Amino acid sequence: MIDGRDRWLIGIGASPGIAIGRAHVVDRRRVKVPKRHIVEAEVQDELDRLDAAVASTDEELDRIKRKFHDRDQNGGEDHHQIIEAHQMMLHDEHHLLGPTRRRIRDEKVNAEWALRRTVEEIKSVFDAIEEDYFRERRSDVDFVGDRLLHNLLGEHVDVLGSTPPGAVVVAHDLSPADTAHLHRSQVAAFVTDAGGKTSHSAILARAFEIPAVVGIEHATERIVPGGLVIVDGGRGEVLVNPTPGEVEEYRSRIRRHRAFVGELLGNRDLPAETSDGARVHIYANVEITDEIPSALDHGAEGIGLYRTEFLYLDRADLPREEEHYMHARGVLRRLAGLPATFRTFDLGGDKVARFSPSLHIGHEANPALGLRSIRLCLKERGLFKTQLRGLLRATAYGKARIMFPMISGVGELRAAKAILDEAKDELRREGLPFDEQVPVGIMVEMPSAALTADLLARECDFLSIGTNDLIQYALAIDRVNEHVGYLYHPLHPAMLRMVRYVVDAGHAAGIKVGMCGEMAGEPLFAVVLCGLGLDELSMNSTSIPVVKSVIRASSQVEAQRLASDVLGIATVEEVEAFVQREMGTRFSDDLLRAAGESAG
Ligand code: PEP
Ligand code: MG
Repeated sequence: MIDGRDRWLIGIGASPGIAIGRAHVVDRRRVKVPKRHIVEAEVQDELDRLDAAVASTDEELDRIKRKFHDRDQNGGEDHHQIIEAHQMMLHDEHHLLGPTRRRIRDEKVNAEWALRRTVEEIKSVFDAIEEDYFRERRSDVDFVGDRLLHNLLGEHVDVLGSTPPGAVVVAHDLSPADTAHLHRSQVAAFVTDAGGKTSHSAILARAFEIPAVVGIEHATERIVPGGLVIVDGGRGEVLVNPTPGEVEEYRSRIRRHRAFVGELLGNRDLPAETSDGARVHIYANVEITDEIPSALDHGAEGIGLYRTEFLYLDRADLPREEEHYMHARGVLRRLAGLPATFRTFDLGGDKVARFSPSLHIGHEANPALGLRSIRLCLKERGLFKTQLRGLLRATAYGKARIMFPMISGVGELRAAKAILDEAKDELRREGLPFDEQVPVGIMVEMPSAALTADLLARECDFLSIGTNDLIQYALAIDRVNEHVGYLYHPLHPAMLRMVRYVVDAGHAAGIKVGMCGEMAGEPLFAVVLCGLGLDELSMNSTSIPVVKSVIRASSQVEAQRLASDVLGIATVEEVEAFVQREMGTRFSDDLLRAAGESAG
């Protein structure tokens, strides 16, 4: 496993903070399905368990079918047929149940193991066929197989379920839903083999203030279960088997960091205004309502990005209009007059909902370039309109904005707005109130949107630059791929030029331009971003006090000079060195590292 020489594991700092705890190693790939040999007398029990699991799965599918039916939206018929196809697959004696029963009887193995082998066999047949249609069927087999397995295993399928509070979870990979689960389990930190700095699990870890290091090669193999580890999420380091002296050193660093953050929080209610009076609005990025008190405590002036897709994750059914409405209305109530920007659901990519097979996303070789976000909304119009109606109804109860993600150009913006208009018309006809003036904007997170920002700006009320995706698409680096994390450079000249272009285009059309990607919360970049003319920065709550402090200690004139200087530099390395040097002379290292991130 690990010896004295390589006790330091280096990865990507995904969420700042230091944690000391015992390693809880989970690896779905290894533990998923137990294999057990059975004796003749147990065969009937296993066959009965299989039948019971088939019956429960059938009932679940019936329930989903009823939900789709009740929604009575466009596309409902399609969903109905897909679930029926799943039910037929579930009862398929020839391919699924027959071979599974035979394995239980002949090979004398438990039902879970027999089922898994059968599902793998079916999938390998599909794999050998080139046609897309059959590849899509493969994900249907997965869906049915997983549900059936879940019912066979009962609670044991949830490998994270038994995570002890205070543990350092070590996993191959974690989904955003897993991360939310870990937050509820009060884990101390997490470490993963896979993942990047702007993966949604990393973003959530920062939101929940869980220190995290991702992208450590073979962490699950190199860290011994139960061993003591220290996680430094700011530096992206994990120390295995620390000595008592090392533990004490880190404890004192934790104390110093807490005292420093406490001081910063003293300024949280002051505006982000430069010494010569330029004002930047500072908002929070929020995924779930539980984060709102923390956002307000850190001095947010509202929510600049509400990632509504989290309402769809970690559940087997779909949220209905009433739930969207009550949820958004609850958010606005908690904000007591402060604004909230609701981004319509951005599913797909690394945010995959459990019911995705019924959405028919299917297996995608490259999900980042696949059927995600607004593309999915425009395909699943019924689902989209359900959300829009709920959100619109909530706008009657506070200051809300609606924002569309992943818009590639004016055509998609118009198509999304047309569905919004349909929803508005329906509500008017039904006499349901909403804010007729609700501002509608878009995220600029594709190079095609950045380069047509002037055209887009004429047809919406605000722009918000989503740098996580814009960097992914402009620099061609998959944001969840740990092997290319080293290429993540927000200060790349191409990014700086795009930001400048989008800001200018928005201002020329008389609208505000914000930024809500992770870049916006990096204190080292705050002065450059002010100089580039951004009106709003939306970030993880914990970054707010430090970004405000940096902006308040600068002048707009020097910020503009800095921005114009960096725009004249040719390479990303030189830009980074220049910004580090300039900021280093003005601010302490503690302040610039307070949000725990580095320039790249
Ligand atoms: C972004 O892409 O910058 C963004 C804020 O959206 P998300 O991280 O949810 O994709
Ligand atoms: Mg995005």
